[in-house]
Amino acid sequence: MRRGPLKLTAAVAAVVIAATLPASAQALPVPVATAGAAAAAITPAATSTTVADPAESVMDSLADYWSAVFPAQFGQSFVRLSSGTAGLDSGVGGNGSMCVTEASQIMGNAYYCPQADGIVYDTGVLVPVLEHDYGPGAVAASLAHEYGHAIAARVGPTVTDRAQDPKKYPALFVELQADCYSGTFLKAATEQRAGGTTLDPDRLATAVSPLLDFRDAVGVDPAGNTAHGLGTDRLQALVHGWLGSPAECHDMTLKSLRITLGTRGVRTDGSLPRFADDTALRQATRKSLTAFLATETGAAAVRADDVRFTAEQRATATPIGQFALASAGVHAAMTRAFGPGPSAACWTGAWVGAVFPTRGGDRLGSWAGDPDEALDMFRTTEPDTATLLAYTAGFAEGSAACR
Ligand SMILES: [Zn+2]
Repeated sequence: MRRGPLKLTAAVAAVVIAATLPASAQALPVPVATAGAAAAAITPAATSTTVADPAESVMDSLADYWSAVFPAQFGQSFVRLSSGTAGLDSGVGGNGSMCVTEASQIMGNAYYCPQADGIVYDTGVLVPVLEHDYGPGAVAASLAHEYGHAIAARVGPTVTDRAQDPKKYPALFVELQADCYSGTFLKAATEQRAGGTTLDPDRLATAVSPLLDFRDAVGVDPAGNTAHGLGTDRLQALVHGWLGSPAECHDMTLKSLRITLGTRGVRTDGSLPRFADDTALRQATRKSLTAFLATETGAAAVRADDVRFTAEQRATATPIGQFALASAGVHAAMTRAFGPGPSAACWTGAWVGAVFPTRGGDRLGSWAGDPDEALDMFRTTEPDTATLLAYTAGFAEGSAACR
């Protein structure tokens, strides 16, 4: 089941998860992403003010989760957020809280306020959009990211740490680490270890969708003070936490991930189709895949007919880009060669990782947003969690992860 266009979502929630998300990121085209059945199962918003704020229960769960795991992970007792959490209805307006002077300022937003040691979020637009467009897991993923900043305030890197060593702790690192902490909470939610918040273990892709959708533009400076990472980067950070632990998130560095934001030698300004037509794209894809498989497996080259684009793939890929369509053709060929599900996903991720970055020109893998194009296309297949993890491993680690 595919959800409808998300233009409204992007407009109001582009600043979610990051008070400092650059204006350029807010203008990102909305990727074709999937919300899955979880979102479809959500009942329409009740207008009664007596309905509980779903974010509030997630915040309670986050406090429970961190109280439980923090001492063993970090060797110290957990100090609760001194200002707690506050939901403000940006639509109603009125007084703000913590870093926010007026409620209207927080529209579509949520963030950790270091001065107050508390989290403030918008109940008027942000929470309903997350819940209804993405599903309840998305509320958990997004607020858990903010809570991750509160964890960093306790175990470092703190604001002071960052000021003293800005090269070691750029915004990109701090944001990806918060994604990692979010991943640990989501995993706990699948195992009934996250207070009252639960998540279907097969719904990781849906839960993390808002974090992947609200990513940087490809030209953002990875050393800049607003960087959050491309979707591929954010997914890797979340998966690092999902598969690991809070202590591993604390110990991670940017080298723990295969960061794509700021990759040198790739175009950040590509705007026209880089191949004249589908035939040229298909030939380039077939040639690339043939070379990849010959190197990686020693197997016979993929038959020419194995790379083809269906009408449905074309329609899905059109708003994303030609690399998205190429990756769909590769995914289909990999499915025939290695079987469906995690195997094909891993090999597809490995192919994307092998062709990116290709230096110079307008070729497969030579544009800065190519990994995200492939990821967005892959997400439209509504992968289960094992399949999403396999794709991520294939991209980050190469074909060794697929054998
Ligand atoms: Zn953040």
